[in-house]
Amino acid sequence: MFNSSLMIAGAIALARHLVIALVSILVVEVVRDLYHFLAHVWQPLYRLHGWHHRIFKPDLSVKSEEIYRQANWYNDLPESLVILLFGVIFAQVVITNGLVAQNYQWLVWTGCFYTITYSLGAIARGLGIPYADAITDVTHRQGEFQSLPGNLFVNRTYHWRHHFDDQDAYFCGTLTLVDRIMGTALSLKGKKIAVTGASGTLGEALMTQLHQKGAKVTALTSKEQELSITVNNQATPVNTVTWAVGKEEELRELFEKIDILIINHGINVYGDKSPEAIATSYQVNAFSGIRMMELFLDTVKTNRQKATKEIWVNTSEAEVSPAFSPLYELSKRTMGDIVTLRRTNAPCVIRKLILGPFKSNLNPVGVMSASWVAKQIVNLAQRDFRNIIVTINPITYIFFPLKEFFQSIYFKLFTK
Ligand SMILES: [Zn+2]
Ligand SMILES: [Zn+2]
Repeated sequence: MFNSSLMIAGAIALARHLVIALVSILVVEVVRDLYHFLAHVWQPLYRLHGWHHRIFKPDLSVKSEEIYRQANWYNDLPESLVILLFGVIFAQVVITNGLVAQNYQWLVWTGCFYTITYSLGAIARGLGIPYADAITDVTHRQGEFQSLPGNLFVNRTYHWRHHFDDQDAYFCGTLTLVDRIMGTALSLKGKKIAVTGASGTLGEALMTQLHQKGAKVTALTSKEQELSITVNNQATPVNTVTWAVGKEEELRELFEKIDILIINHGINVYGDKSPEAIATSYQVNAFSGIRMMELFLDTVKTNRQKATKEIWVNTSEAEVSPAFSPLYELSKRTMGDIVTLRRTNAPCVIRKLILGPFKSNLNPVGVMSASWVAKQIVNLAQRDFRNIIVTINPITYIFFPLKEFFQSIYFKLFTK
């Protein structure tokens, strides 16, 4: 009895100290990312950090070996020493506050040991030791991108965007946490974004939000009229392209130039269950979106396109919750399922917009306003949520992630 309770106490103590060790790594990673952010907003620091931005060409080859070595002395090494300093402060605070037992004290220094490996890497690269860059500088390696931008961890594709998409975003070095909190995990500045269903309430609200974030929006609508958004109480016309369901192929040329495609059109036939209503629901809510998605994915070829192109699909809460319109649910679920299937190996990021009822011409009793919903969508996208849920229905927050998780595993297992 005595022995087993002693063992449990020992295990708890070890677990507590392992958590402290992990926190020490988290602290140095967060300091690194904040230091990097500071280097971009504070000129004296940018004078050192600018070396890092000067050395790479868009294919991540270096402009000159000499400058690459210098950049390690001017940027990478000082950065790691600042981080090390904070690692030491963290360890001292933990020790002086008696948060750690004597025999586990070395674990508090984990973050510092971890940082020293970065310092040594920077020194090795600065000295020009052969292969030091290949082993220690993994986010700047050349070659075709093999994966999408990381969601929790920074990879090459993710970091490339800091150099060549927007230097005022994507600050993180290892974990994406700080970017996700600051809303810099996706930059919309200068992005060319096409929105379908643009004449609808949400379409217009989304275009307004995206425009405010610096994006260049194109409205895709079935109506023969130029659409506009309201900026500073003034109607501002947007580039409008007219298309029709079934004629998606005509959009190919446009899609070549678009960075983000937002598939947002839809139809609600409510209680109608005639053969025509079934056909129309599937044509508009599922098949036209699927064709658009494939057309757009076809335009993703280069490293830049893999890193920056995206599709957002408004599949709606109807994927998991009732929308009191069976054909709307059935067709939207089909679209949602195909997106889940397709994004198991899609060449670019595909986000889902899982939205609850909002006030619109189609739904005058919605609780949320379309502009509030649009604002949340953009907020969450900038925090790199791949499934963007905006609803007042708590069940969706539980069921949707579960459904998505298990279904994507199933799809991965049984497809090539
Ligand atoms: Zn930078
Ligand atoms: Zn870099």
